[in-house]
Amino acid sequence: MTQQKLNSKAFVSLSARLTAAMRSQETARCDRLFNDPFATQLAGADAFAFLAQRKIQPEQDGRPYVVVRTRFFDDFLLAKQLPQVVILASGMDTRAYRLLWVADTKVYELDQLEVLRYKDAVLKDATPTCQRYAIAADLTQPWSHLLLDRGYRTDLPSVWLIEGLLMYLDIPQVHTLLTTVSQLAVAGSWLGLDVINTTAIPSTTDSSFQGYWRSGCDNPEELLADYGWKAKVIQPGDEGAHFGRYTRKLPPRDVPNVERVFLVTAQKFPR
Ligand code: SAM
Repeated sequence: MTQQKLNSKAFVSLSARLTAAMRSQETARCDRLFNDPFATQLAGADAFAFLAQRKIQPEQDGRPYVVVRTRFFDDFLLAKQLPQVVILASGMDTRAYRLLWVADTKVYELDQLEVLRYKDAVLKDATPTCQRYAIAADLTQPWSHLLLDRGYRTDLPSVWLIEGLLMYLDIPQVHTLLTTVSQLAVAGSWLGLDVINTTAIPSTTDSSFQGYWRSGCDNPEELLADYGWKAKVIQPGDEGAHFGRYTRKLPPRDVPNVERVFLVTAQKFPR
């Protein structure tokens, strides 16, 4: 792979395999925070080459963000154990195959057609640990009918995950997505997501992402409250989100001009 800049669509698709490559590297550690036995194959050689060429070494920098994020949301999903799980922009997420779900849990994965096709081809011999539904969708276009067509029920509680997506959308697209999710989620449902702050959009600390991130949010509590969710926000490195591995401590949130990312969990309250 050359050091050329990829176009945005190509990079976002590759980004799904880059996170898989990071999960593969984590799985190889004896002190791993999770085990993703599918990650190496899903990542593919070019994703490892990309990380190596760009010298992306989050562990050495004390910022193994994808690893910490994966474990954080693994724990979140397993703690909720609701009958319906919707993973938006699932990419190479293998939770439908590697987590222990209670019987009859339905896990819906939505992503671009070519991403799901690739993943399904790689995982063709693997058995999900839940009832898995892969739904090809452009999440910037109307998609709720696709979920409803596959049996998603708006009268049952659900848990939603939007991991590694919002920064690639522009602000109106983020609002449209949150509107749709909030219409589909009954009170009591849960939502997990990660979001960068606005200072991080130019991504000066990690040049590999420069030019690809399009939006950020400085106050996720306020954003989600507008859509009927009560949110709890934590920064990686904080208590409850370092797992002994994210050693880079971010300054408190009221310190300005700091590039940040937030791990957000939220519950839908009755209107
Ligand atoms: N959530 C996965 C993870 O954490 O490993 C994948 C994250 S990856 C950084 C971003 C994902 O967003 C890719 O799988 C990409 O295909 C998906 N994506 C980006 N824009 C999308 C869109 N408009 N519709 C559907 N999926 C989209």
